[in-house]
Amino acid sequence: MNIHEYQAKELLRAEGVPIPPGEIASTPEQAEAIAKKLGGMVVVKAQVHAGGRGKAGGVKLAKSPEEARELASRILGMKIKGLTVHTVLVTAAAEIASEAYVGIILDRATKKPVFMVSAAGGIDIEEVAATTPEKILKLPIDTRYGLLAYQASELGFFLFDDLKKVRAASKIMMALYQAFMKNGASLAEINPLVVTLAGDVIALDAKISIDDNELDRHPELEALRDETAEEPSEVDARNSHLTFIKLDGDVGCIVNGAGLAMATMDLVKYYGGEPANFLDIGGSSNPEKVVNALRIITAEPHVKAILFNIFGGITRTDDVANGIVTATKANPLKIPIVIRLTGTNEEIAMQILTENGFTASSDMDEAVKKAVALAKGGQAA
Ligand code: GDP
Ligand code: MN
Repeated sequence: MNIHEYQAKELLRAEGVPIPPGEIASTPEQAEAIAKKLGGMVVVKAQVHAGGRGKAGGVKLAKSPEEARELASRILGMKIKGLTVHTVLVTAAAEIASEAYVGIILDRATKKPVFMVSAAGGIDIEEVAATTPEKILKLPIDTRYGLLAYQASELGFFLFDDLKKVRAASKIMMALYQAFMKNGASLAEINPLVVTLAGDVIALDAKISIDDNELDRHPELEALRDETAEEPSEVDARNSHLTFIKLDGDVGCIVNGAGLAMATMDLVKYYGGEPANFLDIGGSSNPEKVVNALRIITAEPHVKAILFNIFGGITRTDDVANGIVTATKANPLKIPIVIRLTGTNEEIAMQILTENGFTASSDMDEAVKKAVALAKGGQAA
């Protein structure tokens, strides 16, 4: 789950990270009032789940409350990377002497949280990593001990020479690590971490992603979810208890089990197609899930063919067949469907499908090839 900058800043403030004061606004008038209250220069910042807002014109400095109102009216409603801005953060502006990058990601290779810090901040860290990787220090953390004081110093010294700044940065690293661990984050970053003209080290931007699997342990974080900022199909899928991730291809995949879903996507790619999504209807026998899955997939205009791939173990394939029949009776399909199912109650499932005018096979390769061909507009092999 992604959260907004202003929410991430709250979580970091709670651990003691120094951050300029600010409030959110959803109208230009509110933005003006906040700017008046803060006094002096302010920054008006688009709150969307995307980076690179600065480059897109979503982060602007205002010299007066009137200018803050004017900028807010321009930024509210703006689209950044396909996402509409509904809220802006109005925050006291800092005078920047230098910008650094500080982040923690959960690294799958080392199975540890890894600190990444760089004095080349303010810009995309991916760009720094690609062109000048020596400018990034990576430090994996053993979660049994946490971030130790000497490690926090090491990170601080990589960024600064001046001892006062090193100490300030080390304290921020400790706080960032606490925020990362406490909130079940998969990513926590401050970019930029700036040194002000007065020599203070403060965070001007914050990004935190919460691991969805941690939400049961942190019900209070669920309140930070902003469904208006999320992919509508993914919101629908989550509310229907389906594991769904939207992708860019045109073969809509409906599969039971995460492993089989991954294998199906691999096979679609192998036969020259592009999956439109990852979708796992789970292990239980529930025709309702099939109905929901079909609704979500067919709502996507770029999906050109649907591929069912069901391995019946606990899942009964006749339940899936009934789900397909129910869903397509209610909402007739406008695109071709390819059904592969095998396992529990396969004969009954095949009979239900045949009686209702569908064809199905038990061969996975054959079904995937057929779906890929249909998505390309060709005849099924
Ligand atoms: P992002 O582009 O989505 O990462 O948004 P950021 O919050 O990181 O802002 C982008 C850039 O705007 C920063 O790297 C800064 O250079 C600039 N910026 C942000 N806040 C301030 C501020 O308070 N004062 C000044 N002078 N520049 C700022
Ligand atoms: Mn940033």
